[in-house]
Amino acid sequence: MTMMVPKSLKCPLCVREFESQMVTSFSVGEKESDFCPRYLGANPLPAFLHVCPGCGFVGFEADYRNLDPAKAESVKRVLAGLQWQEGQRLGGPERYRRAALIAMYSGKKSAQIADLYLQATWCSRMDGEPEEEEKSARKKAVKYFELALAAQEFDTADLPVVHYLLGELYRRLGESKRAREHFERLDEFQGVEPWLIDWRDKQLKQC
Ligand SMILES: [Zn+2]
Repeated sequence: MTMMVPKSLKCPLCVREFESQMVTSFSVGEKESDFCPRYLGANPLPAFLHVCPGCGFVGFEADYRNLDPAKAESVKRVLAGLQWQEGQRLGGPERYRRAALIAMYSGKKSAQIADLYLQATWCSRMDGEPEEEEKSARKKAVKYFELALAAQEFDTADLPVVHYLLGELYRRLGESKRAREHFERLDEFQGVEPWLIDWRDKQLKQC
């Protein structure tokens, strides 16, 4: 069951105070090959991001507390370029895409931006959006995961999972050569979890 409780928040941009919902529990069954969770109750992902009804700022609860004041002006400029109507409702994929855009201008790391785009693809699929929306977010996830790798943002222990995931995202984009390159990188690491090797072997056969 996905459970939520009311949560009061104050927007770091327009200082509007409003009530949102915080997820307190959820359960996951299986995961798809790109780690998209199959939730046993309602999809909690949209509710992890809070939308300011006044200005359209979107962020996790911590983003409401920790937005760097020096970055607030550039985030405001980004939001000014997007459509917003007082109290507008945003679905899951829209929340994650908007949060990813805000993340770029609020100084988040490439790995965090990549993760937001990845979750946008999951929400897109769960909501049955046109495939082009999912594909476009997936391309951006790949771009930022590659930037994060180049900037050495990941712990060494996480690299096998990152290469598997990049392989799988490229595979889903029809880029078999890049997919195989990342899948094969798993062989460079010691002590990779057996389930990850199994998943890799299965997906590699489909490239
Ligand atoms: Zn606001």
